[in-house]
Amino acid sequence: MTRPHRAPFAPLFAEFAHLSAFLTRPPADLSAAAILGWPAYKGGECLRCGAFTGVAFPRGCSGGCPSCTPPPPFTFARSLFAYEGQVREGIRAAKYGRRAVAVEALAVRLHGAVRDRWSDLFPFGFRPAVVPVPIHPLKYFLRGFNLPAFVGRALARRAGWAFAPLALRRGWDARPQAGSRLTDRRENVRDAFRVPAGVRTLSDVLILDDVYTSGATAAACAGALKTAGARHIVVLTVARTVL
Ligand SMILES: [Zn+2]
Repeated sequence: MTRPHRAPFAPLFAEFAHLSAFLTRPPADLSAAAILGWPAYKGGECLRCGAFTGVAFPRGCSGGCPSCTPPPPFTFARSLFAYEGQVREGIRAAKYGRRAVAVEALAVRLHGAVRDRWSDLFPFGFRPAVVPVPIHPLKYFLRGFNLPAFVGRALARRAGWAFAPLALRRGWDARPQAGSRLTDRRENVRDAFRVPAGVRTLSDVLILDDVYTSGATAAACAGALKTAGARHIVVLTVARTVL
């Protein structure tokens, strides 16, 4: 199959487009009180990929939703918030405005959900290494801030889990995901991530990202970690787009 054309400076243009859109809005409230009040998604979700389907899957059902065909390379994925309204504005403000003030409150919310709402998925003996999804190198150069890395570190500290920010590396040739057609996303990131040589094999891994959209990024990260020897891979994101 012919690989899509890689535009090396596409991330640069995408970054400025997002930044300019963000700067024209009033500042979002990223106080701890505001984030602690964000409503968690309460609707039905796919038991495997965590898709916000609005339909409750019965406990014990091993099947997934249509997004799970073919099955993703992770055991399960879960997201806390619907990516809309104040949550969407808040995450964009934290991400593009480099507002680390939101980090601790987001980690508190995620840790609370791990202990309570998803306690059956995170039993006491499960102690994964938290691996944040790496940002594109050019975006990091421009932004100097990767929200998943900060939230992942704070979550790992709260839960007593290991933090492995260097377990995955992102290449230069991946195009930005935001704004891409869903059908292009999987191809865009298929080979974008790799486990660097010399990194210790991680058995139990929690991939941490800010927003789950098509699942292409999560699948690419999980695939790379699985190839490197990981056995049990779960995905946790702050928010998720609603189907
Ligand atoms: Zn699913």
